[in-house]
Parts: sequence; structure tokens; C-alpha cells
Amino acid sequence: MQNMPLIQTAPDLREKLQILSSDAQYDLSCACSCGSGDSRRRGLDDRWLYPVTLQNGGRSLLFKTLVSNACANDCKYCPLRAGHDVVRRCTLSPDEIVRAFMPYWNSRQVIGIFLTSGVCGNPDAAMSRMLATAELLRYREHFRGILHLKIIPGASDAAIDRALSLASGVSLNLETAGAEHFAKLTSRKDYLHSIIAPLKRIAALTAPGAPHAQVKTSTQFVVGASDETDREVVRYMGGLYGRMGMHGIFFSAYQRGLGDPSLPGENSAATNAELLAREHRLYQTDFLLRKYGFDAGEIGFDDSGNLPLDVDPKEFWARRHPERFPVDANRAEKAELLRVPGLGPVAVKRILAGRRNGGRIRSLESLGLRGALARKATAWLSF
Ligand code: SF4
Repeated sequence: MQNMPLIQTAPDLREKLQILSSDAQYDLSCACSCGSGDSRRRGLDDRWLYPVTLQNGGRSLLFKTLVSNACANDCKYCPLRAGHDVVRRCTLSPDEIVRAFMPYWNSRQVIGIFLTSGVCGNPDAAMSRMLATAELLRYREHFRGILHLKIIPGASDAAIDRALSLASGVSLNLETAGAEHFAKLTSRKDYLHSIIAPLKRIAALTAPGAPHAQVKTSTQFVVGASDETDREVVRYMGGLYGRMGMHGIFFSAYQRGLGDPSLPGENSAATNAELLAREHRLYQTDFLLRKYGFDAGEIGFDDSGNLPLDVDPKEFWARRHPERFPVDANRAEKAELLRVPGLGPVAVKRILAGRRNGGRIRSLESLGLRGALARKATAWLSF
């Protein structure tokens, strides 16, 4: 039988959304604490709807897609890198994105939209497509919900300023801790010029009292793609939350097999399960910095400079500071209670409320605190 020529038709809007939102999974950073585990478990239909956890603990959905998966960059950890031809490339026009998104918004199925993009052309060309979409949403559709824009590394100051004037949140991925590790990930992006300089500009323009102080800022590390240690990542986290005033830091474990064979992450001894465990420990450390009053310099590491995988970072700190324990459940300050392994902000609140109600606390169980975490905490408390 004669071979028939293979005809590939141009994808329609739904097909393009399926391709582009599926590829957006490699960028898990969201403005409103998108659970990376949930992102990885999403089904095949409507894959542009991402589950998100709200600040009040509730759940909702965010519409998230790439505007284009065409990319001129060569990030070795990324399946969309230039020259990696297993990807079917396509681009959504601003009008197509708005047409796809607005029905979800009008029927209250989503709380907002997250736009990111490959570098189709140059950084400002990629930015201009996202900005044109944002302008249509804000000015033509009068959309007032969450609008998160990814800042493309190397974007001009003018593009960054415009994004800040339209978005409720922006993010620019740092990827790794420092120029030396970054150089192992890509040859086409310069750490200081493409990443650090724009991050500094964003920080200055979103600082308290600055013109865009209301815009939330975040970044992401791709954990284990290069050969940075957790100690180096945590040092950067301290600077990002401190000097840069960042609102959120996200971590995405490098998924082995996706990247270039020369990548350090492809040649390390760490398994995918260990990389996911490392991502989890970094998120726990992030909580210690943001919610538990820890300073980056207090976080402990093993001899290799990494967070131990067999114990959580708060308990590891506590084991190294026996002089701080036991903590008196009836007298300790809130800050001291928050450092007790197994106690989170909700449990601490209950202890403080129990004390205010007059009675002496004789056990966590008497406050309705039970289970493995309460048992763990009891070992570090006195009553
Ligand atoms: S810039 Fe890098 S990470 Fe982003 S899509 Fe292109 S190759 Fe992937």
C-alpha cells in the first residue's frame, strides 16, 4: 500500500489550550499557594484549571496556561527548551486566551488567571503577548480578579513596569542559588542581568509605599536541577524575604528524565523520591521562616549542607538546642511555643486560649489536641 503523507492540521483553541496548559505544569509557581502535589495529580480534561489553597484554608481554581511553548532559551531542565523537538509548538493570541478564560470567570468557577510563556522571539516579545492579554482583561472585560503574570528573564524595565501596573501578582523564577550553579542550567540567560537585576527592580517598585506595593511577588527554585545545596538555597531565601520583601517562594523538584543528559541533576545520585522529599523539607523550612519566627541563619543542615530527609527541620533544630527545652506550656511566650516540634500556629493558639481561660494546662489532650503531632510536642513540653 502506498504511504499516505502525514498531514498535521493547525490545532484549534481547545487543542492549543490542552498543549499549553499541560506544558505549564513545569512551572508550578502560583501567586496564591498552589499545591504542587495537586498540580501533579490533575486530570487530562480542563487541565488549565489548577487547584489552589486560599489564605483562609479554602479551595478554589485558577486558570493557568502558557501563552506560547515556543522558546529561544536552552534551560537544560526544561522540556520546552530550544532544539528539543519532541514538543508540539503553538501560541495563543491574547483574544483566544480571553475567549477561553472569561466563561470560567463569569460562571465563578475560577478566582483568576495565571499567565506564563516560553521566550517566543525575545523576552519583550513574549512579555508583550502577556501584557496585551492583561490589557484586554482589565480594560475591555473589566476583569478585577487575580491576574498573575510571569516576568520573563531579561524583560526590559518598561515591560516589568507595565506588568506591575496590570497584575495583582508577578513572579520571576530564580531557579537556583547563585550565578555559578545557574551557569550549569543555561548558556543563554545571565544570572545577574536576566534574573537578579529585574528582581531588584520588582522589589523596589513593590516595597511598602512604592507605586505597586499592592502587587504580590514570588519566585521559584527548581530543586536539584543544578548542584546547589539546601544551605545555599536557604541563604537566598533569607535575602528574598528580608531585603527583597518577597511574598512567596516556591520549590519544584527536578523531574529526572526531562532534561539534557549533561545537567547535574541527571547525573546526581538522588532519586526522584529523594528530590520530592527535599522539595518538602524546603517547604517546611519556608514555613519556619514565614510563620514560626525562625531566621535563615538558624536552620540546621547535615554534613553535606542539605536539610536532613529523615527529620523535619524544626525537630532537627530542637535536637541541636537542648538548652531551650522543655518549654513550659503554662508560662512560655507564643514565640517559644511555636518552636516546639509538633506545635503549629493553631495548637499554640489553643494553648494560649486555654491559659487565658484560667485553668492550669496539664496535657495537650485536655485542650483537645491529640494524634501523632500532639504526642511529639508533649515530649518537648513541661506542664
Ligand atoms: S525560558 Fe527556559 S524554562 Fe522558560 S520555557 Fe524557555 S527553556 Fe523553558
